Amino acid sequence: MRNAPVETRNATTSIHVAPSLASALDALAEYGAAGAAFAGGTWIMRSPVRHEPLRAHYVAIGRIPELGSIRIGPNAVEIGAAVTHAALAAALSDLPEFNVLVAAAARSANPAIREMATIGGNLATSDFAAADCVPALLCLDAEVEISSRDGCERMKLERFLEIRSTLAPGRLVTQIIVPRGEHKTAHARLPLRKAGDYPVAIVSLSISVDGTGRVRTARIAVGSVEPVARRWERLDAALIGRPLDPAHAARVAAELAGEFAGRDSVDAPAWYRVSVLPGLVRRAVAAALGA
Ligand SMILES: Cc1cc2nc3c(=O)[nH]c(=O)nc-3n(C[C@H](O)[C@H](O)[C@H](O)COP(=O)(O)OP(=O)(O)OC[C@H]3O[C@@H](n4cnc5c(N)ncnc54)[C@H](O)[C@@H]3O)c2cc1C
Repeated sequence: MRNAPVETRNATTSIHVAPSLASALDALAEYGAAGAAFAGGTWIMRSPVRHEPLRAHYVAIGRIPELGSIRIGPNAVEIGAAVTHAALAAALSDLPEFNVLVAAAARSANPAIREMATIGGNLATSDFAAADCVPALLCLDAEVEISSRDGCERMKLERFLEIRSTLAPGRLVTQIIVPRGEHKTAHARLPLRKAGDYPVAIVSLSISVDGTGRVRTARIAVGSVEPVARRWERLDAALIGRPLDPAHAARVAAELAGEFAGRDSVDAPAWYRVSVLPGLVRRAVAAALGA
């Protein structure tokens, strides 16, 4: 199976279908900068559309048993990096605290893509600003496990997003760890024209309220507006101690939205991505309240 050659338009690319994690890490270490993981392939397959060269070697990770499993424990959920969006949405659909992640995984792209695209690929694709699972996992305070032949380490997703474009060859995202808690969560995304489009902007949130309905903790994250998704900590702080109310949250979001420097692209201008944020915050809070 190793090094099966695959003819591509411009060059010969080899694909090693790894039967085990050890085999994948060995192959990635040997290939170095000439190799990369191949998960769902939904980003890699569009390399020619983006005028990007393919790597000389890919290591397919979809058949590694531990990367395809989801363990739901009392304190955390551990998600293998090769779990697909469809499998993730199905596995967590009965756990309301993960509504944000279920919505992110179940509404991204289209049904055929969701059967292929993986959560690890979603986090690892540095140039994909519109990835749905990234803001969802930021608001859930997720951690990422990265493995190599030399061992593995865990880091906060925020830290991983800072280093992912410079991740040394031979390192693989192997697991995503999401703590559990009694939170109200929601994911609001705005595709430009139709289902299947990349979202113009995304708001993901995870909020806990006290017995009187006032916000105790808030973690709000914004995706697709800037090149990399990030937390909206000033909005978190402004909501804490106040009753959770969609109209109020949208008003505060409108006051604070100027902190975002939107990205321009062919599908939407920067100003538009920022201008839709208050409406998405309103929708997300309403969804979290079950309204
Ligand atoms: C038309 C279209 C529309 C889409 N719309 C959306 C959308 O709106 N929202 C959304 O979230 N997704 C969308 N997707 C899917 C998106 O491509 C995937 O979510 C994700 O970015 C890539 O996942 P993948 O498993 O296919 O990764 P691949 O294409 O296999 O890999 C992508 C990159 O990540 C690296 N990689 C993959 N897995 C790992 C790992 N475990 N460790 C280290 N590096 C790794 C690869 O080496 C490669 O560089 C869309 C896809 C298409 C084709």
